Amino acid sequence: MLLTVTGRNVLLPDFDLPRPATINIDLRTGKIIEILLGYIGDKVCNKSGDLHFVDAGDKFVLPGLVDAHVHLEEPGNQDWEGFWTGTQAAAAGGVTALIDMPVDSSPPTTTPGNLDIKRHSARGQCWVDVGFWGGAIPHNQAQLGPLLSAGARGFKCFLVDTGIEEFPRVSESDLRAHMSHLQNSVLIFHAEMQNASSSTHHQLDPRSYQEFLSSRPEELEVDAITLITRLQAAYPSVFCHIAHLSAASALPIIRAAKERGLKLSVETCFHYLCLSAEDIPDGATEYKCTPPIREDSNRNLLWDALVDGTIDCVVSDHSPCLIEMKGLERGDFMEAWGGVSSLGLGLSLLWTEGRKRGIPLGQIIRWMSIKTAELAGLSGTKGQLKMGHDGDLVIWDPEPEFKVSKEHLYFKNKLTPYEGMTLRGLVHKTFVRGRLAYDSALQDGFKGLRPAGELL
Ligand SMILES: [Zn+2]
Repeated sequence: MLLTVTGRNVLLPDFDLPRPATINIDLRTGKIIEILLGYIGDKVCNKSGDLHFVDAGDKFVLPGLVDAHVHLEEPGNQDWEGFWTGTQAAAAGGVTALIDMPVDSSPPTTTPGNLDIKRHSARGQCWVDVGFWGGAIPHNQAQLGPLLSAGARGFKCFLVDTGIEEFPRVSESDLRAHMSHLQNSVLIFHAEMQNASSSTHHQLDPRSYQEFLSSRPEELEVDAITLITRLQAAYPSVFCHIAHLSAASALPIIRAAKERGLKLSVETCFHYLCLSAEDIPDGATEYKCTPPIREDSNRNLLWDALVDGTIDCVVSDHSPCLIEMKGLERGDFMEAWGGVSSLGLGLSLLWTEGRKRGIPLGQIIRWMSIKTAELAGLSGTKGQLKMGHDGDLVIWDPEPEFKVSKEHLYFKNKLTPYEGMTLRGLVHKTFVRGRLAYDSALQDGFKGLRPAGELL
């Protein structure tokens, strides 16, 4: 049984612009078995509405996106997000695989037993494929090898307090112990490090965004990244990855480390590329995240660094909480839970902002799909429309504009700084391993479908 998808604008590997092509997916294996150049929609009679033939016409056919940084928070905090709603939001945004963070579920993913618990709660709930990062916390070095064997795709650690008791930050000596246990696997850093001067900052007006921003200066990131590159020189076989880079002043350190040949990669997030501190109203805690969203000039430097390859990829860091935890009435940035919710909006965000900057679509897909698949160790099966890869693809219309409202949000707690913003580009259909995972023509986008995502 085959699924055939044909279109005049199919984004194939190694091209910045889409071209006419036809893709055949074997529905028994879910794999792409044939890619033919040329559009056949005008030659095939499809009046019967064959479920196994999709004519995308002029709409774009893109590889399914891979979001390597998502907090689904289940088990334990499934009232914040959860597998069902989080993966529906992903599917509605053309994300066909995501990697869940270990930190804010309970238990956190810091032992193989805890990973089992997480997998158990995910089963049957996933609309897209889901993989898992493990957690590196003080004294769990002995768990790292078994976590990898149990399927963790790498590890996340924090150099700054997380606010979560079960997930403490690591010290330099913890890190040395961890890195000596990790050969050729990925260690992801929340790269902010508190120093003496940052801890003496006094908040005068907790509603002021400017003051919140001053409490998380760029030096916190610069200091952390300096430590990471210094340790990496001592443990060169560990692949280090900087999560959610915000501070442009850390870019020279990263450039120098990459020039020295260190195995270092870097992600930034939609919110650092599409939002600016100057536009954030005081008290608007839906914008609170750490590291913080910085000034417009910083944002331009992040775009430059993406284009020149210093930054490798872009992820959501979708990190929701109960709306009450944002304390919107008080608008206290210091008290509010940190995290920006954006799962499902990423492609429209980067396309809207990238177009203004002359970024070709192929480049955006490299940052959101090819490079993130590489980071998660999935480049053999995901991230590109390629023979032998999973049949993960998105039918997408780049032209229509829409104003973000709650009806576009599929995640559980519908609070996002993007509400009210006008974006461009709409997902029509999302296929995971050749199976329909979202269709904008269906009621709620999902009516009549079943979750068919697999655990990676
Ligand atoms: Zn995160």
